[in-house]
Amino acid sequence: MPKIVDVKVIRTRATGMWVIVKVLTDQPGLYGIGSASDVFHPETVAKAVETLTPMLIGRDAGRIEDVWQSVYTSAYWRNGSILNTALGGIDMALWDIKGKEAGMPVYALLGGPCRAAVPAYAHAGGRDIDELEQDVRRYMAEGYEVIRCQLGAYGGGGFRDTATVSMPQNAWPMRRAFDDEAYLEAIPAMFETLRNRLGFGVKFTHDVHEHLRPQMAVQLAKRLEPYRLFFLEDVLAPEQVQWYRLIREQCTTPQAVGELFINPQEYVPLIAERLIDYIRVRVSKAGGITPCRKIAALGEWFGVHTAWQEGGDNDPVNQMAACHLDMASWTFGIQEENDFRPEEKAVFPGHAVLQGGYLYPNDQPGLGIDIDEAAAITLLDPDRSRRSFLHTEPDRRADGTAVRP
Ligand code: MG
Repeated sequence: MPKIVDVKVIRTRATGMWVIVKVLTDQPGLYGIGSASDVFHPETVAKAVETLTPMLIGRDAGRIEDVWQSVYTSAYWRNGSILNTALGGIDMALWDIKGKEAGMPVYALLGGPCRAAVPAYAHAGGRDIDELEQDVRRYMAEGYEVIRCQLGAYGGGGFRDTATVSMPQNAWPMRRAFDDEAYLEAIPAMFETLRNRLGFGVKFTHDVHEHLRPQMAVQLAKRLEPYRLFFLEDVLAPEQVQWYRLIREQCTTPQAVGELFINPQEYVPLIAERLIDYIRVRVSKAGGITPCRKIAALGEWFGVHTAWQEGGDNDPVNQMAACHLDMASWTFGIQEENDFRPEEKAVFPGHAVLQGGYLYPNDQPGLGIDIDEAAAITLLDPDRSRRSFLHTEPDRRADGTAVRP
């Protein structure tokens, strides 16, 4: 069995937010890579991997479950985002090594493919309904069956121009204020128009990004029922998931949640009590392939499907790990899309291919994806102080109250 001799961290993309873990073994040329990316705290995750390295050196790379359990409890306290992500990167790298040793793709080790390719859903958006319709039509023409529909970015549809809102005399400077009622008006109207113009042949999802107060979330789920969504995503914040019981009692709109989850206590009750329909944790944030294959198996018994989170800040290695799980899990539901710029793809030879609404892995041993370390450096922006596209300042209500993302 190959032994771990070193663990490297390679950071790439402009801000260095992509954190790729490379586990090296004592067998010449045998190594694995995994994703430990974090758009907000890449330095902290990279440091965590570095801190874990001494306990990994000398271990059998093939004892994936044992390494996972050992790292999981290595801090005594557990289920934190940073350690989970570091663990996710290490775990993926060990599966990559195992596949290379076996001469098989990871999905073959997980039980073999149970589908030809992985259906993905697209992200359509627009500043208004006409722009959104054009974007939806573009994705339909590309072959997507399932399309997420948004009016702008996080909270889009729920903002009112502060010039039209009753603001405090000493209002904090802001251009727009989030308002639950505005959202509750805009989003059902958006789907009413889309269904009128496009019919029911295309499947829609919508992501609320946890912006609503819980009772408003229940109302939105109920009001969207006539438009027969594929799923409604993150209608509740992770702190309020007990409200899914009330949503279940009120309507049949399918529910998807999980991209903020890191702790089994968050998702196991929702699956076991059949309170959701799609579990959407990010593979790296849950701790890698090892816990996610268990989540998929748990979901199978309770009729809950997987929709592993992707989205703009994920890297091609995390996408590939999700793709292998998707290929081998019967309970797979849909894969969130993620695409990359050509120069980013060039850094990751063997990356999954997204085409015509499907994601394709390859048949190479392991994860089938590699990293060109020299090219990875060229993606880094010399001015790393520039923040990524994700905002750090919260959306706010008229009185200044922060809205949790
Ligand atoms: Mg989301």
